[in-house]
Amino acid sequence: MINIPRTDKKRVVIAGCGFAGLTLAKKLKNKGYQVVILDKHNYHQFPPLFYQVASAGLEESSILFPLRKIFQHYKDFHLRKVEVESVDPAKNTLTTSSGEIGYDFLVLAHGATNAYFGSVQMQKYSRGMKTIAEVLDLRNSLLMNFENALTAQNDEEREMLMSIVIIGGGPSGVEIAGALAEMNKYVLKKDYPEFKEIRAKIYLVEAVDRVLSAMTKKSSEKARGFLEKMGVQVLTNTRATGCDEKTVFLDSGKIISTGMIIWTAGIAGNRSAGLNPACFTANGRIRVDSFNRVAGYENVFAIGDISLQTEEHYPKGHPQVAQVAIQQAQLLAENLIRIKSGEPMKAFKYKDLGTMATVGRHLAVVELPYVRFQGIFGWFIWMFIHLMSIIGVKNKLQIFINWAWKYFTYDQSTRIIIRPKGCADVSTNNYSIPE
Ligand SMILES: Cc1cc2nc3c(=O)[nH]c(=O)nc-3n(C[C@H](O)[C@H](O)[C@H](O)COP(=O)(O)OP(=O)(O)OC[C@H]3O[C@@H](n4cnc5c(N)ncnc54)[C@H](O)[C@@H]3O)c2cc1C
Repeated sequence: MINIPRTDKKRVVIAGCGFAGLTLAKKLKNKGYQVVILDKHNYHQFPPLFYQVASAGLEESSILFPLRKIFQHYKDFHLRKVEVESVDPAKNTLTTSSGEIGYDFLVLAHGATNAYFGSVQMQKYSRGMKTIAEVLDLRNSLLMNFENALTAQNDEEREMLMSIVIIGGGPSGVEIAGALAEMNKYVLKKDYPEFKEIRAKIYLVEAVDRVLSAMTKKSSEKARGFLEKMGVQVLTNTRATGCDEKTVFLDSGKIISTGMIIWTAGIAGNRSAGLNPACFTANGRIRVDSFNRVAGYENVFAIGDISLQTEEHYPKGHPQVAQVAIQQAQLLAENLIRIKSGEPMKAFKYKDLGTMATVGRHLAVVELPYVRFQGIFGWFIWMFIHLMSIIGVKNKLQIFINWAWKYFTYDQSTRIIIRPKGCADVSTNNYSIPE
């Protein structure tokens, strides 16, 4: 049992403190509820800049923020670093890695993970970018591959170690491809002058006919043009049909020998047991009504990436992006306050504030509600918005200094390999990460 004394206030338990959970918790400050926040990590993370950590452009500490620091001065707020395992809606309890906890209102906000569409090989041999643990493993392995390329016995092995295949041409795939192409152009030739001819080969594999398919055709074409100019081989209308430790197989018949497969192609809800199976979609999202209430339960809600809510303009559900998570959390806080005062709840309506992706120095595509632009102006807008969205003045400053340093020196700060003992020589795709 998680021992948190009950008070005269009703208890809201928030499972997961990402964009959705954190926004909700902050909005419930001093609103007459006891709030219990459960997260398997003791920090809040900022996934939009994961690709910069993965490509050694930013230190991980600048995109993580300790949760305890955020809630230091919140009254009747309780944080527990536990993993949520299952819900018992009949008993109004949640089972976690450290025992049970009761709730009056439960909010599931524990986000999403990688989906591999049943490919056991991809799950085993590719690297994901959904958590900071995965991202750090990716960075270490990438740098390790470059080091091992120096001691490789022949050119074939060297080329395999220097080849990177990114599967999925959405924003994450495009952004990591651009960042690695920049690293290839500006950093590797200085760090590894002995390579001379051999540079990293970067492939971006996308199943549909264009990258960034959620954006307009013009933005997709621009992004593809930017990437190709930087040396990325963009393979659209192409599916990865399988892989092994050192190879990716494509449906075009092409076989790529590679020491690094990066998987950004699929997303699935983080599962937790106990709810009616009919609540879940095939990829583990939880169906909710327009108040983010889980179908069939009065006091269980789901927000953010884990939830699937439809609207007239979003018949297949909202995109799994930070703005949806934040806006749903803001409205749910308002609705919980309304429930307390006996008022009816308000229905959710998503306000799309725009989409953007950056490909590299001076290169970004930005689509705001009434205006679209690409190139250097888009790049500055992208940097400004991301900088403003990061929690903490110190983190903002750290990132700003890093970006400014990189801008003027064409250098990256964190090309450091740190692995637990016994893993130092791992350089292939066969791996597993402790969480
Ligand atoms: C690489 C990458 C790049 C992205 N770039 C962008 C972008 O540029 N713009 C944009 O809008 N969106 C972007 N997104 C999507 C955005 O990050 C998500 O939509 C957003 O994080 C969803 O918020 P959330 O609160 O639902 O989930 P998350 O932010 O994922 O938070 C989930 C929380 O739940 C915790 N958790 C998970 N499982 C458990 C468990 N069993 N028990 C306890 N705690 C648990 C996790 O530790 C985490 O703190 C990106 C995502 C990724 C992965």
